[in-house]
Amino acid sequence: MKKHNFGAGPAVLPQEALDNAAKAVLDFEGMGISLLTCSHRTKEFQAVMDETVALFKELLHLPDNYHVVLVGGGASTQFYMVPFNLLEKKAGYVNTGVWAKKALKEAQGFGEVVTVASSEDKNFSYIPKGFDIPTDLDYLHITTNNTIFGTEYHQDIDSPVPLVADMSSDILSRPIDVTKYALIYGGAQKNLAPAGVTFAIVRDDILGKVSRHIPTMIDYRTHINEGSMFNTPPVFPIYVMRDTLRWIKNLGGVEKMYQINQAKAQLIYDEIDRNSLFKGTVAVDDRSLMNICFVPSDGHEDLYDAFMKFSKSKGMVGLKGHRLVGGFRASTYNALPMESAQALVECTQEFEKMHA
Ligand SMILES: *Cc1c(COP(=O)(O)O)cnc(C)c1O
Repeated sequence: MKKHNFGAGPAVLPQEALDNAAKAVLDFEGMGISLLTCSHRTKEFQAVMDETVALFKELLHLPDNYHVVLVGGGASTQFYMVPFNLLEKKAGYVNTGVWAKKALKEAQGFGEVVTVASSEDKNFSYIPKGFDIPTDLDYLHITTNNTIFGTEYHQDIDSPVPLVADMSSDILSRPIDVTKYALIYGGAQKNLAPAGVTFAIVRDDILGKVSRHIPTMIDYRTHINEGSMFNTPPVFPIYVMRDTLRWIKNLGGVEKMYQINQAKAQLIYDEIDRNSLFKGTVAVDDRSLMNICFVPSDGHEDLYDAFMKFSKSKGMVGLKGHRLVGGFRASTYNALPMESAQALVECTQEFEKMHA
């Protein structure tokens, strides 16, 4: 049976990227050896790295003063790499969920850390707005899409201090004005590639301002100067990332991707709002286009297990909500096909007929 992969991460990837990766694992560029056993210093792999970075810059419309770094360690390493490189005196964090909080926690100890705004009072079910940003911060950190709670900033915010964003789960899903950010980072395993590669987009003027010693691997300048080849880069995820980026470009770029993502999310949110057995969990204006959280509606709490079972029988994978929210979470990342969104809607409709 066809599976519909709504997993939150590692997540669905474009089929053609998977097909091509499978081939490259057996024979990379006709070299007669596997991508996995080939030196990263070959011209063949260098070409993969160069194209990946070039496509990423092109799709995001990055100006020349921004550098792209591809490293290991996941977004969780960026949680401390950011303050290591940028925090001298004081940083501000917006606390919008589990990942935002983890980022904040890692910054403590590098300097003073203040929570500029938080949505913890309502179990992170909304995005705080209109908060004052102190002007004496070295940077302000936000998490643009809250993967676990299903909220997302739909507009790039204006910040009087350098803005740092964790975009692990919404990179390339909507157009952004990169010039509003000083640094953007994320793990690749939601929207770009398999786990193992992490991207950082760094504006060059923010570096070199802290007085502490920065270990070589943690210093963004190392990876910028060495073209992300200071040490062995995560070759396989970078290869798949290249093909994901090619796929987005061929589709029409981020602007087109955004239209498709809006259509997919709208389909599912409309159904959740219509279906008497389910309800959404977050403020309507802040609903994520990438992670759609929903729970059984009041009085129907006992249908949780039945829906998990029924949806599984219809080929749905990865719908279990995070334990902090409960219910269900349909992750609708870039590579999730529209037909999967449609299949989920048909599934909830059929379930309603059986139980309402
Ligand atoms: C998944 C996720 C992370 C954690 O990424 P790792 O690469 O596993 O460290 C951080 N932030 C957000 C927003 C995420 O969705």
